[in-house]
Amino acid sequence: MGTIEIIQGDITRQDVDAIVNAANTSLLGGGGVDGAIHRAAGPELLKECRTLNGCQTGKAKITKGYNLLAKHVIHTPGPIWRGGKNGEPELLASCYRSCLELASANGCKTVDFPSISTGVYHFPLDKASVIAISTIKAYLADHPEIERVRMVCFDANTKKYYEDALG
Ligand code: ADP
Repeated sequence: MGTIEIIQGDITRQDVDAIVNAANTSLLGGGGVDGAIHRAAGPELLKECRTLNGCQTGKAKITKGYNLLAKHVIHTPGPIWRGGKNGEPELLASCYRSCLELASANGCKTVDFPSISTGVYHFPLDKASVIAISTIKAYLADHPEIERVRMVCFDANTKKYYEDALG
């Protein structure tokens, strides 16, 4: 079974088969990790994203990585936290699952995720980290083709939550 690792770092600098972008439904770029990925990948990424006609919350779409070291970018719009009774937990789990399904379908054996929805979308970190780790664990148990999944946390506090969730 593939491994799960938690690291602190900048996801735009990782040399893996796929990095995940915490995108918005337009897929046309934004702030936070989305802006950083588009800046590092270069304008060709936005050009390909324009052909995708957006993406629903909880789903995912894949592009090439362009100027990134990563071969692919998997774009997923996370749910905006609106109190937790509007399907936010299920949608967040669906983001992680959809990204891993696309990774499998495209031969990506190493996948790096940012902390989806816990920035400007305000999903509480304690809940988001538990959902992320349990969804990734369940997927890896059924899909030996994925060799390693990492959570790439931008700051130490975020990293601590994912480490606690991993146990
Ligand atoms: P969302 O809209 O899904 O909440 P954000 O980009 O606002 O997305 O934040 C998601 C997480 O990504 C936050 O923990 C933020 O600190 C982190 N982040 C921002 N830039 C980077 C980066 N270059 N690498 C990894 N994580 C990043």
